Amino acid sequence: MLNLLNLDQPDLTSFFTELGEKSFRTTQVLKWIHHLGVVEFAAMTNLSKPLRQRLSEVACVSLPPIRKVQISADGSRKYLLQLDPNNAIETVFIPEDDRQTLCISTQVGCALNCSFCATAQQGFSRNLTVADLIAQLWCVEQALRAEGYTTDPHGRVITHVVLMGMGEPLANFNNVVKAMRLMMDDNSYGLARRRLTLSTAGLVPAITKLKALAPVNLAVSLHAPTDELRNQLVPLNRKYPLASLLAACRDYLAGTTPHHHRITFEYVMLKDLNDSPAQARALIKLLEGCPAKVNLIPFNPFPGSSYQRSTPERIEQFRELLFKAGIVTVTRKTRGGDIAAACGQLAGQVSRSARDVVNS
Ligand code: SAH
Repeated sequence: MLNLLNLDQPDLTSFFTELGEKSFRTTQVLKWIHHLGVVEFAAMTNLSKPLRQRLSEVACVSLPPIRKVQISADGSRKYLLQLDPNNAIETVFIPEDDRQTLCISTQVGCALNCSFCATAQQGFSRNLTVADLIAQLWCVEQALRAEGYTTDPHGRVITHVVLMGMGEPLANFNNVVKAMRLMMDDNSYGLARRRLTLSTAGLVPAITKLKALAPVNLAVSLHAPTDELRNQLVPLNRKYPLASLLAACRDYLAGTTPHHHRITFEYVMLKDLNDSPAQARALIKLLEGCPAKVNLIPFNPFPGSSYQRSTPERIEQFRELLFKAGIVTVTRKTRGGDIAAACGQLAGQVSRSARDVVNS
């Protein structure tokens, strides 16, 4: 049975054309599902009775159950969604003063094997479908609305989405682009593209394609100012070294209006490994010519990790050097650390067979 959550606006229009229906059915159904949170065809009262009947025969709106919710002392919440009997993913809701952000996963596990990331240890199971991607937003948005959580003037609880959970979004390119288009669609969530941020470890050819198809905010996980060190931390760097990555970042911004057009570079602070003043200076040099903002992320430990977090003094010294060189630099506040929901701590449940394949 066709899960309508897998269809973005053009796909849904083709679906209705094949059923012999007019294209305005697309916007009606998108509004019911994504805007109003209604998934029973019988309740979609502006569709004719025969169409409702036909839909219930050929299609469904199938959502993954929320298996577990953990609430952090700081208010952030981690949801475990069961996608199928073998695979579960984590999604994190992060309330802040001026925004309410959802951090979504894009793959079950991850194949990139970054040495400091908990998801890497799980191995890779599969890409998320469009339905799996959009269901994270649907499920958390509806759960929070049902609890009476504060909404914005558009009636939304979630105001921003970051693709920074488990997985490498650009390695699941087509599904991720479709899901982001649904998030931006005025008939569904209507999130402006600047409210979406995609974080990548640096899949260079896909960065170029992203600009053409869905130019959302881009965050790049940099973590090291030299190829030698980055090869160790982010093995993908051997394929796409720093010079090619920085060139892709500059191209991503080229031709856009200057207002808030910067790439966010994420830099995990690892004690005595990438946190020296000399490395800060090397980073400043590397970022020359690329409008940048830097997010320093204090390393979050996880069971079995061999790295340590840089000291607060060291992080502050690093931040100040970048700041004095004119680069906006913030130290990311660790959120949800007490429920293992912080950066690099998401693990979910990755099917065992997949884990064995990756680790063998
Ligand atoms: N694969 C994408 C999306 C994951 S985003 C990417 O690499 O960007 C998750 C962010 O948290 C990335 O910047 C990642 O490098 C960072 N991260 C991973 N493990 C971490 C850890 N243990 N402590 C702090 N940050 C970590």
